[in-house]
Amino acid sequence: MPKHSPTSLDPRSPLVLDTRDLPRRPGVLRTVKRVVPAPSDLGVELIAVPEGADLDLDLRMESVSEGVLVSETVSGPVRGECGRCLREINDSVTVTIQELYAYENSTTDVTTEEDEVGRMQGDLIDLEPALRDAVVLALPTNPLCREDCPGLCPDCGVHWDDLPADHSHQQIDPRWAGLSQLTRTEE
Ligand SMILES: [Zn+2]
Ligand SMILES: [Zn+2]
Repeated sequence: MPKHSPTSLDPRSPLVLDTRDLPRRPGVLRTVKRVVPAPSDLGVELIAVPEGADLDLDLRMESVSEGVLVSETVSGPVRGECGRCLREINDSVTVTIQELYAYENSTTDVTTEEDEVGRMQGDLIDLEPALRDAVVLALPTNPLCREDCPGLCPDCGVHWDDLPADHSHQQIDPRWAGLSQLTRTEE
């Protein structure tokens, strides 16, 4: 996905921030609180924010000379699967993000690398890329239902929690298995 999307942002989109009410005078602050539906694929393979779940956005925008500095706290539910026992995980995630969005054609816009700072499109800011990065980074790549989850018995697939302490599978040598079959037929 290109950083500079050729299509213009939709000001009504929940993750687009309209800064028209924020005077372009350094030091001016505005706060915005929003609950938005989570976009799709917000997470990693085993754990993610369910699409459409409520994301709480607590934003502070501040005019700086080259653009708008956005500080935000984002929180929402996460659902996933334990990497050891596949049990469902229901948790929540909270991230704080601070990102500078440079005005179009400002010195910062012109002199910085593509991904060094965010960019504004006119008065609009697309919050999604930074939010996505922060949430994905905050989620465990190997989520566990609990820190010391013992996982499943590799032989029968039952959770160790549900098995007696001395649970084991007797290893029967295939040759002996054959013998016992033989004895049975002789009987
Ligand atoms: Zn587990
Ligand atoms: Zn077992």
